Amino acid sequence: MTGLFDSFQRQINYLRISVTDRCNLCCIYCSVGSVSLLPRSEVLSYEEIQHIVQAAASMGISKVRLTGGEPLLRPNVSRLVRMLSQIEDIDDISLTSNGTLLSKYAVELKEAGLKRVNVSLDTLKKDRFKRITGRDKLGEVLSGIEAAHEAGLQPVKINMVVLRGMNDDEVVDFAGMSTSQGWHVRFIEFMPFGTPQVEALGTVSAQEIQERIQSLGKLEPYTGKTGNGPAKYYRLPGARGTIGFITPVTEHFCHSCNRLRLTSDGQLRPCLLDDDEVNLKEPLRNGASVDEIKQLIQKAVAIKRERHQLTGGLAPGIVRRPMCQIGG
Ligand code: SAM
Repeated sequence: MTGLFDSFQRQINYLRISVTDRCNLCCIYCSVGSVSLLPRSEVLSYEEIQHIVQAAASMGISKVRLTGGEPLLRPNVSRLVRMLSQIEDIDDISLTSNGTLLSKYAVELKEAGLKRVNVSLDTLKKDRFKRITGRDKLGEVLSGIEAAHEAGLQPVKINMVVLRGMNDDEVVDFAGMSTSQGWHVRFIEFMPFGTPQVEALGTVSAQEIQERIQSLGKLEPYTGKTGNGPAKYYRLPGARGTIGFITPVTEHFCHSCNRLRLTSDGQLRPCLLDDDEVNLKEPLRNGASVDEIKQLIQKAVAIKRERHQLTGGLAPGIVRRPMCQIGG
C-alpha cells in the first residue's frame, strides 16, 4: 500500500491548517472570545507551513484546507496559497472562512491556486447575525459569497451551525437557498467546545433538522462529486444546490476520517476532539531535516485514535485548546 495509513487502515490524505488564531467575529458558540491570543512569534511562518506540507505531501497528503481563526485576517494569505499550490502532489487547496473579507480577496486567492471555499454563516437575519457573532457584518458575508462565486471558487459551501433557540428556526430558509440560489448548504451539529451557555441548550440533531426540511420536499440522496469530508449529501427536487449534514455528535464518522490538523502554533493533531498532539514547531525551529519532520508526521498518524469520545457521554469542554487555534 502506498500513502499514509493509520493503525485502523484509514488513509490519511488531508491536512487542515489553522493559519491564525485571530478572528474578526466573536461567535457565541466558538471559544475564540474567551482565550488569550498566541504571541505572533509562536505562530508558524508561511515558510514553516510550506516545509511541513512539503514533507506531508511526500508521504501521501494531497489535500490542504486553510482555516483559523479567520484565515483571511492573516496578511497575504494568497502568498501561502501560491506557495502550497507549487508543491507537487498537492492537488486541492481550499479555505474555510467567515466570508467577511472574501470580497476583497476572492480573485487573488483564485489566481494563487485556491480551488474552493466554505463560508460559515449561521443566520440570514441582520440583527441575529450581530447577536450570534458580536459584529454587524451580514452584508459583508453575503457580498463575500457572491464574490467567491464570481471568482470561480467552486463549489462555495455554506456551513451553518444549528443552535437551539438561536437560529434553528432558519433551517428551512437555508435549505430553500439550495433551490432559489443554488447554494450548497451544510448543517453542522453544534459541538460542546467550552461555551457552557450554549451547551446548556443542547445539540439540534441532524435528524431533527432533516425532519424540518422535509416540508420543502423529499430529500434525495446526492451521489455526485462532493468533497473530502464527512457530510452526507442530499438534494431537494429541482434544486441546483445540495444539502449536507455533518453529525459529529449524533453519528460519529471517525471510521472514514482522513485528516490531520496543524494548529496555528505548529502542533500536529490527529483529531479535533482529542488533545494528543505532536510538536512540529520546536524541531522545525531547531533545524530538523525533512526526514525528521516526516518521522514526526508518522508518529502523529500512529497515535490517531479509533474514534473521538464526544458521543460517548463525556462532559462538555473535553478539549483543552480553543477551536480557533486548532482550526475548525
Ligand atoms: N473563521 C473561519 C470560519 O468562520 O469559518 C474558520 C474557523 S471556524 C472555527 C470554522 C468552523 O467551525 C465554522 O464553520 C464554525 O461555525 C465552526 N465551529 C466553531 N465552533 C463550533 C462548535 N462548537 N460546534 C460546531 N462547529 C463549530
